[in-house]
Amino acid sequence: MANFTKEETDIIVVGAGPSGIAVLACLNKLDINNVVLGKQDCCAYLCKKKTYDRLHLHLLKDFCSLPFMSHAISSPKYMLKKEFIQYLDEYVEHFNITPKFQTCVESAFYNSGEKKWNDKSRNLTSGEIELYASDFLILATGENNEGYIPKMVGIENFKGEIIHLSDYRSGEKYKDKKVLVVGSGNSRMELAFDLSSYESHTSIVVRSPMERMNGKFTFGGPNVVSSVDDGMGRNSYIAQGMAWGYLR
Ligand SMILES: Cc1cc2nc3c(=O)[nH]c(=O)nc-3n(C[C@H](O)[C@H](O)[C@H](O)COP(=O)(O)OP(=O)(O)OC[C@H]3O[C@@H](n4cnc5c(N)ncnc54)[C@H](O)[C@@H]3O)c2cc1C
Repeated sequence: MANFTKEETDIIVVGAGPSGIAVLACLNKLDINNVVLGKQDCCAYLCKKKTYDRLHLHLLKDFCSLPFMSHAISSPKYMLKKEFIQYLDEYVEHFNITPKFQTCVESAFYNSGEKKWNDKSRNLTSGEIELYASDFLILATGENNEGYIPKMVGIENFKGEIIHLSDYRSGEKYKDKKVLVVGSGNSRMELAFDLSSYESHTSIVVRSPMERMNGKFTFGGPNVVSSVDDGMGRNSYIAQGMAWGYLR
């Protein structure tokens, strides 16, 4: 059997999205040893590589800042995607956050004898297994970073293109085409607007009654570490993402 070395640290953080880097800034400020493992090749991969070009943050910028760093006064109330990405990059640099990229955590278990979390990760570049042990484990793995297209009866007979929102960049290539947008959440509404502004013939299908929010409605914001006790005395935390709740 291969002889793996195990890297020990105080805290392992899994995921380098906005939640993960917010937690890491807090840990680095307190000089707490940590290792952050991210399966993508950059921080905030979802924001950077899986969102459409038109995207503006749907929340006021004050609800979208991470700990210890406000947005510039000069930035708009509703930031453009590129402005938010720039903010995140500056944040990572400022707090000296250095994830191990392309490292996917495949399993984690708590060894009650050692009182340590043991993580098995795969280096996605080399394919090799890496082992880590830590006192605490923080999961900042997000909830919507994998696109999901549900099974629909007859979808296999549809001759047109079917894409998930995460693979959509702009409506340019859909000019004069008929496009059906499934769902009516914030991003689907913005997507339909984008399509129509590129002169595609856009329809939206919505399963449940639509909720309308007026301009005064806003909630959420970064909601960093929130869940602690697993009832068995183990130290595991879940860093949750930002919630959005403003529709213009
Ligand atoms: C189109 C769109 C528009 C949005 N607009 C807004 C907005 O206006 N305002 C707002 O507040 N929010 C908005 N959001 C939501 C926001 O992007 C998310 O809430 C935010 O990215 C969540 O951050 P996170 O760090 O919790 O998760 P993620 O960004 O999903 O990051 C989790 C990371 O963990 C990594 N990971 C997962 N599993 C493993 C593993 N086993 N090993 C290693 N790494 C792993 C993933 O690769 C990922 O990089 C929007 C989202 C989308 C898709």
